[in-house]
Amino acid sequence: MEPKRKVILTGDRPTGPLHLGHYTGALASRVRLQSQYRTYILIADLQALTDNTEHPEVVARAVWDVLLDNLAVGLDPEQVTFVLQSSVPELAELAQLYLNLVTLARLKRNPTVKAEMRQKGYLANVPAGFLCYPVSQAADITGFGADLVPVGEDQLPVVEQTREIVRRFNALYGETLVMPEAITPATGARLPGTDGSSKMGASLGNAINLSDRPEVVREKVMKMYTDPTRKRATDPGHVEGNPVFDYLDAFDPDQDGVADLKAAYRAGRIGDVSVKERLTDTLLKFLEPIRERRIRLEQGRRELREILLSGTAEGRQVVTRTLCKALAAVGLPSAAGAQAPSLAEVL
Ligand code: ATP
Ligand code: MG
Repeated sequence: MEPKRKVILTGDRPTGPLHLGHYTGALASRVRLQSQYRTYILIADLQALTDNTEHPEVVARAVWDVLLDNLAVGLDPEQVTFVLQSSVPELAELAQLYLNLVTLARLKRNPTVKAEMRQKGYLANVPAGFLCYPVSQAADITGFGADLVPVGEDQLPVVEQTREIVRRFNALYGETLVMPEAITPATGARLPGTDGSSKMGASLGNAINLSDRPEVVREKVMKMYTDPTRKRATDPGHVEGNPVFDYLDAFDPDQDGVADLKAAYRAGRIGDVSVKERLTDTLLKFLEPIRERRIRLEQGRRELREILLSGTAEGRQVVTRTLCKALAAVGLPSAAGAQAPSLAEVL
């Protein structure tokens, strides 16, 4: 018998089309590892609702964007399984079990939660659903029995929170849950926004989407933040903290050329416009095949639906098994257990 393949759980919150930061932080690792790992990609619509409570239609629409973007960058539906979070209610039951294993103080101290609370202006009035999203994410990760979680740098504290929950659960109730590990990419683990802020984000208005049309990409690049200390092209320029160079590092296949360009920029021998022109070309070359594939995939609505339906059904069986194990470890009967599929049906 072949040894069991290790498991990846990764995913996106459907809040809109995916952008270059999603690609460098998460999608690129998924594509690279899909043939080695049993990969589940969760479209976390319930989690996206914590941000869009008053606009659920945004989430419902973005589910298709997220699925299309994942497929367009090269994730193969024959190899990976796409799962819609809201159609796996067993995840919510797992999260309910885990809520007893964390304190509100610990959630509020989580650096990612803290930064997002500040960004959203929640202060004391943070919705409980938002504050507890790391617990729901712990259910996602452990529900699929993930060994590995490829994420952008911003998500590291959230995976750490999951590890704490796993440690606590296993210590209390016996070795039950798989201990996950996070990995981040060497380049682009936190891609800055076009405005120079520390993270490209859909809701921050500083993103270049994977599905943006070429003229939109050109316009966004030309308006990008560069080096504010530089008045003329002959002034020495700063490469560090300049997002144009971060994008070139992440997307330009000719890194020797990028090194020469940086030297010329530092020496004041080249202007912002030339650097931006090179970046525009680089991004258009990178994005063109993705855009073409996306347009083609968009025609096949029925296939897309089938990918999501069959993947979700399969994912639900896996999570149901974990939930049964977790409830049994705690010593509680399981309603899900009555209908739990046998291993033979699942594998
Ligand atoms: P947005 O607000 O842009 O939707 P997000 O953080 O909500 O961003 P998620 O759907 O939660 O996006 O994240 C999906 C994956 O993409 C996560 O692993 C996250 O770390 C990664 N990611 C998101 N933005 C970036 C970025 N700017 N740089 C690197 N990785 C990122
Ligand atoms: Mg998002």
